[in-house]
Amino acid sequence: MEGNFIHDIIDKDIADHKYSRHIITRFPPEPNGYLHIGHVKSICLNFGTALKYGGTCNLRYDDTNPTKEDEEFVGSIEEDVKWLGFEWDKLNYASNYFDKMYVCAQELIKRGLAYACEMTPEQIHETRGTLTEPGKEAPDRNRSAEESLKIFEDMKNGKYEDGVMCIRAKIDMASPNINMRDPVIYRVLHTSHHNTGDKWCIYPMYDFAHPLEDAIEGITHSLCTLEFEDHRPFYEWVLKSLDWPEPPQQIEFAKLNLSNTIMSKRNIRALVATGDVEGFDDPRLCTIAGMRRRGYTPEALRNFCDAIGVAKANSQIGMDQLEYFVRDDLKDKVESRFVIFDPIKLTITNYEDGKTETCTIENNQNVPEMGSHTLPFSKHLYVEREDFMEIPAKKYFRLFPGNEVRLKGAYFVTCNEVIKDADGKVVELLCTYDPETKSGTPGADARKVKGTIHWIDAETAVDIPVRQFGYLAYPNEETGRNEFDPNSRIELTAKAEPITKEAKPGERFQFFRNGYYVADTKLSKDGEPVFNQIVGLKSTYRP
Ligand code: ATP
Ligand code: MG
Repeated sequence: MEGNFIHDIIDKDIADHKYSRHIITRFPPEPNGYLHIGHVKSICLNFGTALKYGGTCNLRYDDTNPTKEDEEFVGSIEEDVKWLGFEWDKLNYASNYFDKMYVCAQELIKRGLAYACEMTPEQIHETRGTLTEPGKEAPDRNRSAEESLKIFEDMKNGKYEDGVMCIRAKIDMASPNINMRDPVIYRVLHTSHHNTGDKWCIYPMYDFAHPLEDAIEGITHSLCTLEFEDHRPFYEWVLKSLDWPEPPQQIEFAKLNLSNTIMSKRNIRALVATGDVEGFDDPRLCTIAGMRRRGYTPEALRNFCDAIGVAKANSQIGMDQLEYFVRDDLKDKVESRFVIFDPIKLTITNYEDGKTETCTIENNQNVPEMGSHTLPFSKHLYVEREDFMEIPAKKYFRLFPGNEVRLKGAYFVTCNEVIKDADGKVVELLCTYDPETKSGTPGADARKVKGTIHWIDAETAVDIPVRQFGYLAYPNEETGRNEFDPNSRIELTAKAEPITKEAKPGERFQFFRNGYYVADTKLSKDGEPVFNQIVGLKSTYRP
C-alpha cells in the first residue's frame, strides 16, 4: 500500500510511543445496505493500514440505530470483506456495548458533564442557534446529577414516551461548533433491535456511541470520512471527559466519489426497490456484490484503491480509471475465445467443400504458459461485420475488396467479391485462401499482411447470450445529479467457437479483440453460460 498522510501520522505516533498497544483499526459499516465501491476504499485503507504496521483491524457493525438494520445486510458484509481478501481480527456488534455505553453516560452525569433534558427534538433543534448566533441553554440544564441519574434510569425502565426526555452532554451552547452545543447522547426509542431485541428502549446517539465503540475495542486510529471532521471535537470531548487512557484518535479522509454510478446505500436501495436493477448484485451496480458478479476481481479493486490514494480533499474519480485496473488485472489471467457479435459470412471459394481442419489458438497471447486450444476451420466462416469495409477508410487494413488479411491462427485470405441482398446490404464475402500460409507452418509468414482478424467456423458456431452494459447513470444536465440510465443493459446473442459453451459460472474470458466477459453466476446453467460484459478492451484512461 502506498504511503499517505494517515500513515505519516501513524509513523509519528509510533516514534512518539503514543500507544502501548499495536496499531488497531476498524471498518464500521452500518448494516443498512450492501457495501459499495466507496466502502472498498475504506476497507482497503483500514485493513491495509493494519497490515502495513503489523497491527489488526476489526469488522464492527455500527448497529446502534435500531430502526434501520437488517440481518440480510449483515451476512453480505462479511462475504464482501472476505472476498476482497481481508481478514478481520474481531467481529463486533456496537450494540453489544450498550451496557457499557449506559454506564459511560451515567458517569458523565455524575461528573456534572451531562443532564436529563425535557425538551423535544424540535425544541432542541430550535434552540441550538445558528452559525452566527449562539444557542439557548435548556431550562433544566442545571438539574442535579442525582435527579438526572434518576430520570436516566426511568428512561431506561420505560417510564417515558419517545421524544419527551433525553440525556444531553453539558458543554457550551455558545460554541462556534454547533456539534458542541449540548448534543443529545441518549434518546428514548421504543423500538426492538435486531441484536438486543426489546432489552432497551433508550439508545445512544451515533456521535456518543462511536468514540466509545472505538475506545472499548482499543482502536488506535479511527479513520472516517471528511463529513465527520466537525464531529471530532465531540469525539475527543467524550473520551477526555471519561479520562479514557490512550484514547483512539479520529482522522478524516476524503470519500471516494465515482462518476457514472449511484453510490450511497440509500440510493442503491431505492434502485432495487423500484426494480430498475436486478437486485443488489446487478452487474451494473458498484456494490461489491454487483462488481463481483460483473467479473471484477478483488485484485483490480485493491489496485484501484491503492492508485487513487487517500487525500484530505473531495474529488471525483472517473469510471474509466476503475475500468483500467480491471482490464489491467485480467489481461494476463484469462483465456481468449473467438466470438462474433455482428456476423457476416465469409466463404473461401478455393477451399474444398465439406473439409474441416483444426486451427490452434493461444489461450493468452501474453502468457505462453497458458497453452492453447483448437477450433474448427472450414470453407464457411463468420467474421465481424466491422472487419469489412466495401470502400476502405484511410489506414483501414482489414477486409475490403482486393485486400489480403490474416485470419488469426489460420490462413491468409483475400477478399475478391461481395454479395449483397436486395437492400444493398453486404451479406457475404467471397474470398480465396493461400494454402501455404497456415499459421504455425514453416514460411507461413513469408508475406507481410497488415490486418489480422478473428473468425469462427459457421457450421460449428454456437449461439451464446451476452449482456452488454453501459454506465448505470449519467448526470442530469440541470441538477448535475447522476440518474439511472434505463438503456444501460442490452441483451443480445453472439456466435462463438464451440468451446465457449464449456465456461463455468464465474469464469472470465477475453472475447478476442472485443473485451472481457464473465459467465454469469446466477443465470448460467450447465453447458448454457450467459455472459456479462466485464469491460471493453479500449481505454481512455492513461495511468
Ligand atoms: P452510505 O452513505 O453509502 O450509506 P455510509 O458512510 O453511511 O455510506 P457506513 O456503513 O456508515 O456507510 O460506512 C462504513 C465506513 O465506510 C465508514 O467508515 C465510512 O466513512 C466509509 N465510507 C462510506 N462511503 C465511503 C466512500 N464513498 N468513500 C470512502 N469511504 C466511505
Ligand atoms: Mg450511513
